[in-house]
Amino acid sequence: MNNPVVLVVEDDTPVRNLIVTTLKTHEYKYLTAVNGAEAVMAASSHNPDVAFLDLGLPDMDGIDVIRRIRSWSNMPIIVISARSDDADKIEALDAGADDYLTKPFSVEELLARLRVTIRRLSLMGNDNNNDRSVYTNGRLTIDYSAGVALLDGEELKLTSMEYKLLCILAKNTGKVLTHTYITQNIWGRNWDNDIASLRVFMTTLRKKIEPDRDSPKYIQTHVGIGYRMMKVD
Ligand code: CA
Repeated sequence: MNNPVVLVVEDDTPVRNLIVTTLKTHEYKYLTAVNGAEAVMAASSHNPDVAFLDLGLPDMDGIDVIRRIRSWSNMPIIVISARSDDADKIEALDAGADDYLTKPFSVEELLARLRVTIRRLSLMGNDNNNDRSVYTNGRLTIDYSAGVALLDGEELKLTSMEYKLLCILAKNTGKVLTHTYITQNIWGRNWDNDIASLRVFMTTLRKKIEPDRDSPKYIQTHVGIGYRMMKVD
């Protein structure tokens, strides 16, 4: 995707300036908003490709901004949270955000998050990945209609739970999924011990799909938050 348009929603001027300068330097187009009302307006009238959204806005909770935007748009949203509290990030992700940055963040971190999100965007745009019957990502293939996953063309021996888990992650490649989102999709509920079970299934799934167990390429762990399937070359 060439020069995606990035919406920057941030009331803190120095932070906003840092983001804008970084975007300019890297030839991204951008527009800015300093509160929630402006953000919703800018998102609906300019149709940006991606948004950075500060959760602590003067007029509206950032979570409500996500909910409003999500009522008509799937545009990727990366939230910016000043609070080290994971609960905010989890709430934002469950409301439909794709990723998060914690203040203070580095320019490198900002650009890395943007790159991951833009890859997700091109994945969403190329073809509706959810409608395709075959998913490919690096050496990994999932044939949804046959219900099998393959690594380098070799069928993986996955339990039904591991397969289900892999499919949920694959269908949301590039997006951070919270523990709650995953457990609700697998078991239709969210109990405390489900998260412990999820960790166990994740470990066994990873043993089967990650060629190098010490540096996983496919599934990224977000400690205290959840997991994300990365797009691999
Ligand atoms: Ca703020």
